[in-house]
Formats: sequence, structure tokens, C-alpha cells
Amino acid sequence: MKDNNRIKLKDNFKEKLFKNAYAVIILAVGISIILLRANNGSLNNHPFLGIRLDSDLVNLYGFLLIILIITIPGTIILTYFHELIHRSIARKLGYIANFEVVINWKKLKIKEAVCHFGKEETIQRNKFVLILMGPLITFFSLSFIIFFIENFLLSVSAMFLIALKLIGCSGDLLMFIQAMKKTSREDSLKYDGNKSFTIIKG
Ligand SMILES: [Zn+2]
Repeated sequence: MKDNNRIKLKDNFKEKLFKNAYAVIILAVGISIILLRANNGSLNNHPFLGIRLDSDLVNLYGFLLIILIITIPGTIILTYFHELIHRSIARKLGYIANFEVVINWKKLKIKEAVCHFGKEETIQRNKFVLILMGPLITFFSLSFIIFFIENFLLSVSAMFLIALKLIGCSGDLLMFIQAMKKTSREDSLKYDGNKSFTIIKG
């Protein structure tokens, strides 16, 4: 198999740069939303980006406490949700698919989260990118709910979790870009395991 027929996520400099830039953008947007929410949509009335120290500091401590409590369980639940979306779309499109989430409970860290396909499954390019982008589109859509949550602490906590999960989709987004670059509509992809796909020219 020729090497350019394989799409594999590597941690080379360009890919790391892309992932970090993407994370910075998500965080910048998230922090902007927090600052806007802190001032009910106005940044004009206050000396330092509108942060009111008296009430906002109380909010900040409440926020940090909530973040401490929700980050680990929230991330684990949303990771299952992320893989479930990949699997559901794949199954809806008629493919054999399963997912696996491996958690290191001692370190409370997600070791691995992956959706894999049947050994002989070849996936049409367009369906492949749909399966790939499902979680990102879902989390992005969910982020709009934040604007309807009245409670400040609840909205920034929800935003924090969704921002984390959007950052977690950077691998999918990278693969989407690679797939769009290296394949055409007629091609299919076959999962090799270990975040690697082989392109089957159509
Ligand atoms: Zn994914």
C-alpha cells in the first residue's frame, strides 16, 4: 500500500500548531462570552473590561468551585456522548460500528476514546466526513443553548464544558481537512485501527 493512500493522525509540528491554534480560538470566544455575560452584554460601563470586582469575584469563586466539581464527570460523560454520536451516525448510514472509551480511574484521565468500524467496512468519503463531523456539529449547536441560560454560573459552566469538548474535537476536524484534501467523492476509506485510515480510490 502506497504511503499517500493512508491518512493517519500524526503529532507533527503542523498538526500540533493547528490543534493549539484551534484551542486558542475556542477559548478566546469562550472568555469573550463570559466577559459579555458578566456585564449583561455590555462592556462599556466598567473600567477593566467591565469586570465588577465585588459581585464578579463571588461569581468567579463560585465558577471555579463548579468547574472543580463538574470537569471530570462532565468530560467523561461528554466523551461517551461524543463517541456515541460517531457510532449512531455510522450505524444509521448502515455501517458496523462500535466505540470504546478507556478511563484511567486512578488518574481520572481518559486514556483512549475511539469509534471503530467493522474489519471489512469501507466507508464512502462523504459518509465518512459526516460520521467524523457529527460530534463537532452537535457540540457547536449545543453551544447556542448557553445564550438562553439566564443563570450566570450555570451558563459559564456549561460554556466551559462545551469549550473543552469542542477542543476535544480538534482531531476530528484535522482528519476532516486531511480527508477532504486527499480524497475525492468517489473514494472510500477503510479503518486500520489506531486512528489510521486507508484510502480506496473509487
Ligand atoms: Zn471524534
